[in-house]
Amino acid sequence: MRPHEWGTRHPAPGTRLETHLSDDKAVAKMGHPSEGFKRNTTHHAHEVAPSCAEGSNTMNTTTTTTQKKVIGTYGPGSNHWVGDGFPVRNLFPSNGLQLEVSPFLMLDYAGPQYFTPSAKRRGVGEHPHRGFETVTIAYQGSVGHRDSAGNSGVIYPGDVQWMTAASGVLHEELHEAEFSKAGGTFEMIQLWVNLPAKDKMSKPGYQAITREQIPVVNLAGGGHIRVIAGEATVAGSTTKGAASTFTPLNVWDVILKAGEKVELTVPEGHNTAVVLRKGDAAVNGTAKLTGEARIAALSQDGNSVTIEAKEDSQLVLLSGEPINEPVASYGPFVMNTREEIMQAVADLKAGKFGQL
Ligand code: MN
Repeated sequence: MRPHEWGTRHPAPGTRLETHLSDDKAVAKMGHPSEGFKRNTTHHAHEVAPSCAEGSNTMNTTTTTTQKKVIGTYGPGSNHWVGDGFPVRNLFPSNGLQLEVSPFLMLDYAGPQYFTPSAKRRGVGEHPHRGFETVTIAYQGSVGHRDSAGNSGVIYPGDVQWMTAASGVLHEELHEAEFSKAGGTFEMIQLWVNLPAKDKMSKPGYQAITREQIPVVNLAGGGHIRVIAGEATVAGSTTKGAASTFTPLNVWDVILKAGEKVELTVPEGHNTAVVLRKGDAAVNGTAKLTGEARIAALSQDGNSVTIEAKEDSQLVLLSGEPINEPVASYGPFVMNTREEIMQAVADLKAGKFGQL
């Protein structure tokens, strides 16, 4: 079983458990670009001069902007189907990005792909999760879901489902009935967000966030940012995101017009990544993201990211405080130790994840 699969199959008893993330040897074997990566010591620091308008009280204020360093750019490490509904390009961890993107665990970019009309709903049937959150961002097409915590609904284009599996849920994720019948183009992202050890066994939760509930920040060049989680400060004004999170993090849809250049403030200390869904954009001048399904990883050091779009570009910015705890993962379970994984398997067998 791939460690990052959404979990269409239950782990068989006695199956070898895989512990990744902390497995430095495996990462090194893959020729991981972070090998030999050194903390950036040559910042391109430049001081932004304060406004010196007469009577201004900002005369003595100096804001230092330091670009985050680009660690590397990557494509998908794996293309595969999740169930029969989600043809995904996995942008991490299959390409080796793991520690660099903590607290994020996995990003699957599904589609865009056309589906013919179907009476049968395609997707992933009943499966468990424990120890983290699944975040589903729908762009085209709709996903219907229901879980053992009693939640159900439809994720329509523009909507986000932020599901906290925590101590455990069973759920299903299927193309919504009307979309299945009509057919059409399907496109979405599923992102897995880790939980700190102290929250892994808390009660499952669920945020159904509609398109209308996601604040939009318009940019001067014609593009915009949808602040799904965290907060975005643009032109001195801060906009809070729609989702509540367990650890400090940002998830923004960033839409840029051809020729548009933005400098985004991203907290010092946050692991940071810029994902290209489609387009042509340069990150911090040097990292080219071209075509589809590309990702640039950036350093914790620094507090700014510049993105310049050569063509109309659809991007996602992720950042977050790293969770510096051991990770033991096995299919749909992400815990801290092997023992906790074995407990999850036992609890699933014992029916402790509830019923759909
Ligand atoms: Mn799932």
